[in-house]
Amino acid sequence: MSLDIQKIRKDFPILSQQVYKKPLIYFDNGATTQKPRVVLDEEIKIYTQENSNIHRGVHFLSEQLTQRYEDARKVVQKFINAPNDHEVIFTSGTTESINTIAFSFGEKYVYEGDEIIISTLEHHANIVPWQMLCERKKAVLKVIPINEKGEILLDEYEKMISPKTKIVSVNHVSNALGTVNDVKSIIEIAHQNNVPVLIDGAQSIQHGKVDVQELDCDFYVFSGHKVYGPNGIGVIYGKEKWLNEIPPFMTGGEMIKKVTFEKTTFNELPFKFEAGTPNYVAAIGLATAIEYIQQLGLENIVAYEKELLDYATQKLESIEGLKIIGTAENKVSVISFNLENIHPYDAGMVIDKMGIAVRTGHHCAEPLMQRLNIEGTIRASFSFYNTKEEIDKLCEAIMTVKQMFG
Ligand code: PMP
Repeated sequence: MSLDIQKIRKDFPILSQQVYKKPLIYFDNGATTQKPRVVLDEEIKIYTQENSNIHRGVHFLSEQLTQRYEDARKVVQKFINAPNDHEVIFTSGTTESINTIAFSFGEKYVYEGDEIIISTLEHHANIVPWQMLCERKKAVLKVIPINEKGEILLDEYEKMISPKTKIVSVNHVSNALGTVNDVKSIIEIAHQNNVPVLIDGAQSIQHGKVDVQELDCDFYVFSGHKVYGPNGIGVIYGKEKWLNEIPPFMTGGEMIKKVTFEKTTFNELPFKFEAGTPNYVAAIGLATAIEYIQQLGLENIVAYEKELLDYATQKLESIEGLKIIGTAENKVSVISFNLENIHPYDAGMVIDKMGIAVRTGHHCAEPLMQRLNIEGTIRASFSFYNTKEEIDKLCEAIMTVKQMFG
């Protein structure tokens, strides 16, 4: 089945507006995705008809919403094929998810001289928490190198892993280049050495089927707002064994079993990691978003986004002086590029005035930019609601940029 893009676009109210008197072309889906009306309606319905703090009340609204929150957890569980719903923890987003694991896992397992492996392709959210942990515990951060195409060098990684390695944390898809990493091999190699792996799924969850059991990852994290869901909600999937063993990150209400002034015992999973009032509205909104994309069919989304990627790659490549940054064999629908002798910010500003939203800069991946010897890139990231006509408009805008600055 192919997608009816014009019909789908009507599901996203924001897409029909104009900016600078031009139809909005939204190519900043890597930063955040737009929300379908069903998600927005769901949130309004909760606030107007169902709102009540969950897990605490014996009254009708509280019990009803607690059930809906727990049902949302089951939707996420099935979506990523987690074995148990208590292995799905709601957080505020990928950043909080990684900080939670870096802190909790680090507290328990990382000591002086130990090593943590990340890759050159990481977003700051998957660098800084590990760096802070290394500073606290006097551990060492090791970084897997990449080739010129923006692909992780598996041979080098294999050489880096050692009895000192305590955890590997890499992204599934690079937000800056769109590279799809061979995380299955990365996990296999780590497991041969009894090392657990965290996968940062912030850029993979929206672009294809993720099966945490098939990957056999120890942790998988993502943000709701990048998968057509609300802001302020994210997920940690963690294997029960690890989540039981590591201490909580945030403490307070809900995550406790019993509190006395002398000692506190912790609640069972998943509540041990959900201190305070969770964003239950956004959690339910996320479940609605997941159900929405499941209705479209992930395989249809993958096929269409590949079509957009191939079309855009071929058109952009034909523009003189344009260099695509990140040419991995396996990519999602994200294209970073630079224009000869034109600063990405200058280009971005002109493209913006044509109603086209692209992102310019280092994409929160400064070390990657340093490795590639560039200041930044212009990044167009496509979603299933984008069209080839919009890509044509981007190419026209680039030609205008070239005329202005060339
Ligand atoms: N990791 C990657 C690969 C990302 O692309 C992002 C968001 N750009 C993050 C982590 C952080 O996600 P959030 O800001 O939603 O916490």
